[in-house]
Amino acid sequence: MSSLETFRTQTRAWLEANCPASLRGPAAAGELVWGGSRIEFDNEDQRLWFERMRDRNWFCPAWPEAYGGGGLAPEEVAVLEQELKRLRCRPPQINLGIWMLGPVLLEYGTEEQKQRLLTPMTRGEVRWCQGFSEPNAGSDLANIRTTARDQGDHFVVDGSKIWTSYGDQSDWMYALVRTDNSGSKQAGISLLVLDMHAEGVQARPIDLISGKSSFCEVFFDSVKVSKDNLIGPLNGGWTLAKKLLQHERSAMSKFGEFSLPTHFDLMAILRDYLPVAKTASEVVLEARAQACALDEQAYNLTVQRMGEAARAGQDVGGIASIMKLVHTEQEKTKFEILVDAMGHRALGWDGDEFSSQELAISKAWLMSYTQTIAGGSSEVQLNVIAKRVLQLPDASKGGAK
Ligand SMILES: Cc1cc2nc3c(=O)[nH]c(=O)nc-3n(C[C@H](O)[C@H](O)[C@H](O)COP(=O)(O)OP(=O)(O)OC[C@H]3O[C@@H](n4cnc5c(N)ncnc54)[C@H](O)[C@@H]3O)c2cc1C
Repeated sequence: MSSLETFRTQTRAWLEANCPASLRGPAAAGELVWGGSRIEFDNEDQRLWFERMRDRNWFCPAWPEAYGGGGLAPEEVAVLEQELKRLRCRPPQINLGIWMLGPVLLEYGTEEQKQRLLTPMTRGEVRWCQGFSEPNAGSDLANIRTTARDQGDHFVVDGSKIWTSYGDQSDWMYALVRTDNSGSKQAGISLLVLDMHAEGVQARPIDLISGKSSFCEVFFDSVKVSKDNLIGPLNGGWTLAKKLLQHERSAMSKFGEFSLPTHFDLMAILRDYLPVAKTASEVVLEARAQACALDEQAYNLTVQRMGEAARAGQDVGGIASIMKLVHTEQEKTKFEILVDAMGHRALGWDGDEFSSQELAISKAWLMSYTQTIAGGSSEVQLNVIAKRVLQLPDASKGGAK
């Protein structure tokens, strides 16, 4: 048996023994665990799964052991992902730091920053939020106005961010700030990390129609940020921001792949809601669902092929936008089909008359729309693909998220 086969056998056995049965299969959005200093578990299984994966160093299996990662080789990481998918294990924690900032720190951080910031991430101890968007800087991200003034050994940050997911529950933020106004918009941006509990930082939840508040406005009033929290070069943040967004899009292109809340078996659900003797419109609906399920299958194979290309050292960075665009639009289509098939049963918000799956689907349906905006809207992805992948002439002015 090759060493990789041995690794697969051992990994499979470990997951079978350690991933609680209740955490296999789709989770509703509220059932996921967010790592951080204020971590909360709904049940003992969630705690066990979190602690076991943490102690195995498998929150970040590919990262170096020196920073608390698993130190696995790329082929081993692929095997682990396949085995997690096979068992449909839910992620033990959700953490934007791991998905987005971590890979950028590994590439651009100083040794001191890697030690200080990556290690707590790999233990699930710090919750991170993203401070990119501002009232006039969403798609046109380079338009940010939040400033960081150089004060010798520290910066002073003033301004505000918007749509900061879970800003009020986060420990730290990675933020784009303006450190120079003299050149192009892109040339005066830096990437800073800052403590959300620092004096002068205020996160105000934005009330949503759902009654929840997953977004915040974050205000900075003369916030002192030590210089060792500057990631990468001063005024060189735009390059890091683009890298970080690539990681965000790549992570988003995997939502629903094996464990996140969007994973619902379209064809199986349709069988429950459509009669055996179908009307003409139900036949059409079924054909739409079959096409969608095939697209999903093709997409999963493409993700696998991309993973293999990445492991072979090929540059797949530019493709992240294509994958994010295709996946989020496919997910939206899937939920539209489910809603068409389930009728009012897919529109329940709470109450005993709906099953837990129905309630989860109605929320995931709405969530599927937001995913086509978060991380850069579908229109913006099309612009990025035109420019960076197809290398068409750039007609736009300014920077596109
Ligand atoms: C669920 C969710 C979570 C989010 N979390 C965060 C977060 O944690 N941190 C953070 O910083 N931000 C976050 N955002 C904000 C997100 O990044 C922005 O909403 C997004 O980049 C779009 O910016 P905007 O809302 O300002 O819309 P705008 O940029 O004003 O766009 C409005 C519309 O115009 C279109 N448009 C804009 N420019 C172009 C163009 N050049 N070509 C074609 N069409 C264009 C867009 O596609 C969109 O349809 C989140 C958003 C969502 C939905």
